[in-house]
This record gives sequence, structure tokens and C-alpha cells, in this order.
Amino acid sequence: MSNVLVVNAGSSSIKYQLIAAGTGARLASGLVERIGDPVGRIVHQGIERSERELAVPDHTAGFAAMVAEFERHGTPVDSLDIAALGHRVVQGGGEFIAPTLLDDYVTERINQLSELAPLHNPGHYQAIIAARALFATVPHVAVFDTAFHQSMPPSAYTYAIDTEVAAEYGIRRYGFHGVSHQVVSRRAAEFLGRPLESLRQVVLHLGNGASACAVDGGRSVDTSMGLTPLEGLVMGTRSGDIDPGAMLHLLRAGYSPEQLDELLNQRSGLLGVARTNDFRDVRAAADAGDPAARLAIDIAVHRIRHYLGAYLVTLGGGDAIVFTAGVGENNAALRAEVCAGLEWFGVQLDPERNEAPAGAARRISADSSRVEVLVVPTDEEAEIARQTWELVAA
Ligand code: AMP
Repeated sequence: MSNVLVVNAGSSSIKYQLIAAGTGARLASGLVERIGDPVGRIVHQGIERSERELAVPDHTAGFAAMVAEFERHGTPVDSLDIAALGHRVVQGGGEFIAPTLLDDYVTERINQLSELAPLHNPGHYQAIIAARALFATVPHVAVFDTAFHQSMPPSAYTYAIDTEVAAEYGIRRYGFHGVSHQVVSRRAAEFLGRPLESLRQVVLHLGNGASACAVDGGRSVDTSMGLTPLEGLVMGTRSGDIDPGAMLHLLRAGYSPEQLDELLNQRSGLLGVARTNDFRDVRAAADAGDPAARLAIDIAVHRIRHYLGAYLVTLGGGDAIVFTAGVGENNAALRAEVCAGLEWFGVQLDPERNEAPAGAARRISADSSRVEVLVVPTDEEAEIARQTWELVAA
């Protein structure tokens, strides 16, 4: 038995991938969406692709639809050697520092941590309950997005507010995208053929969500997301860093907490400034001379460079700068903007390497560059499968 079913569930969707634990190969994948709506949908990719609409009232029905779809494709789940399920969980609080076997206690703790991740953990909880009932004979493992950052020192994770208030409300920096920062920093070391323990890396996960991470010898020592995935870099629809005083100002002006939440999480970032959150569209508009799109990119680049500089100081230097996720892997112009003028620090891009499209890990710095600059595709699902397998096979 050597395959892991990786589950990434939200409140109204279940994404799944069947992954060969040994190789990380993707054997099948799919998405159940619009759970709870009158009409839901499942898209399944096995050897062939299928798509169908059906009622999916809850997560239990969602997993049942997935099981039925595997069956329809001639690959019933009991023929698939599923050794374990690996569940992506966004918020593990201060207590989950590693992949954790799901029992009733851990499942309930994930539910309680919903307070800190109201958009994510409730959906994970529903999915875990449903999946544990449906796949009752195999172990289930929670892989937390926060776990990798539990190695941050107190100086990096503590907000300078009244410590009693902070303790009462669990207010500290947790960091997210941990699975991505972990797999990308490890693969960067493999690509370079150097021990992970010897490398100071700044990983830039630039997708619709975005975060930077200072990785010292394979351990996260700082990251740009905080209590929630709102802090830090400019994102597709999220503001990233903003003076908390601006929030007070808006609250006093009559904004409700819900309105603030919506403003900062859904109407800010690239969308707020450039009116679209898809980076390809923002880039195309900027290239066509749209000043709002140009400003959006300039703000995003300014913020990335702000963190890059901070983390190079935190790390006492840098051996590698690593770009990943949708924008980081695909937008050569942004990578050039981020690295512009850093020759004094030993960063020298090779323009041709930077422009060359590729799906695998690659170097985009010049041979003479003291700091390696890499593009390393992220693969959170393969990493969740790997961590799940490592725990259950032990
Ligand atoms: P992710 O959240 O990692 O899936 O990344 C999504 C973001 O990557 C979106 O803003 C996309 O516009 C962007 N993206 C995807 N492909 C490309 C591309 N070829 N060039 C520029 N941006 C891209």
C-alpha cells in the first residue's frame, strides 16, 4: 500500500489528489465544488477527464461523489492502494509543530482553532470528520501550513502589544504557506547539490496569496504572514501590510468589522489598485501604459524587496533567493524587477535564463553571481503526501 490521498478542503469545496508516496507522482486529481449550493460540481482527472453537476449538500456527500467518480473511471477506491489520507490544514496554532495523526482530540483542536482561521479551519474540520468516517480503516494525517514556521524565534513571532491581551486572544504571528516554503527550500538545496543545513535562503512564494520566508539551514526563522494570511506582501486581493491605525480610522468612520474584513481580504491588493487580481492581466495592462496597473506592480515589487532586504539581514547574508508559485514561477519581468540593482549584494540575474520557460527547478542567476537565484516550482500536494507517508510508514 503506497498511495496517499491528499485532501485540501474548504467550506464549499474539496480538492483531492492521489499521489504515489514513493515517487510523488500524481495518479489522479479532482475538485468537488459548490458544496451546499443547490447544484454542485465534480471535476475528476484520472486517465481521462470528466465533469458533472450534481447536488452536494455537505462534505460527506462530496467525498461520496469523489468515490463514485473513481469508480466510474474504472478505478474504484478499494483498488487504489490508499495507505493514508493527508489533510492540508491552514491553522495549527502554537501547538502543532509537525504532521499529526488525526484522532478525535486533534480533530476537535482543529475545530477550536477556527477562531484563528474562520475562513479555513471550519471547512477542514467538516472534511476531516466526513473523510475519517468514509475511510475508516486507514490513518489520516493533518499537515499544517503553520507548522514549518514554529521554529521562528519569539522576537519574530511576537507582536509588541500588551502580552496579557496577546495571550488571552492567541495573538502572535503564525505564518502560512509553510508546506510550500518547506518543499521549495528543500528542492532548492537538492537542485544546488548542497546540504540544506548549509544554506541561507529567502523563498518568495508569489501567487494569488503571497509570502516571503527566511529559511536558515532548512528552518523558518521569519515569514511575512502573521496571525492571519493578511500580513506581508501585496497579494491578488489582500492588502498585505497596512498601518493598524488605518483600520481604527475606518472603524471610527463607521466601517463594521465585516466590511473591513471584506475590504482587506477581497477588495485590496492588485485588485484594489489595478482593478484585477490576475497578475497576467495586471502585467498586460501595465505594459499597455495603464498607470494604475503600473502602480500596483510597483507597490508589489517595493514590498517584496522590503522583505528580501530584511531577510538577508536576518540571515546574515544569503546563499539563494528562490522564486515560486504562479507569479514567481512564470513572470520573468517581476523577477527582474525584484532583483534589479542588487549587484552590490552579489545578485546578478542572467536575462536569458530568466526569460527561458521551464517547468522544473532552474538557475536564473549568472554563473558569476555570488547569490544563487532560482525558480523552483512548488508542489504542496506532493509534500503533504511525503510528510503523511513519512509519519504513517514510521
Ligand atoms: P497561484 O496562486 O500560485 O496559483 O498563482 C496565481 C497567480 O499566478 C495569478 O495571479 C496568475 O495570474 C499568475 N500566473 C499564472 N501563470 C502566469 C504566467 N504565465 N505569467 C504571469 N502570471 C501568471
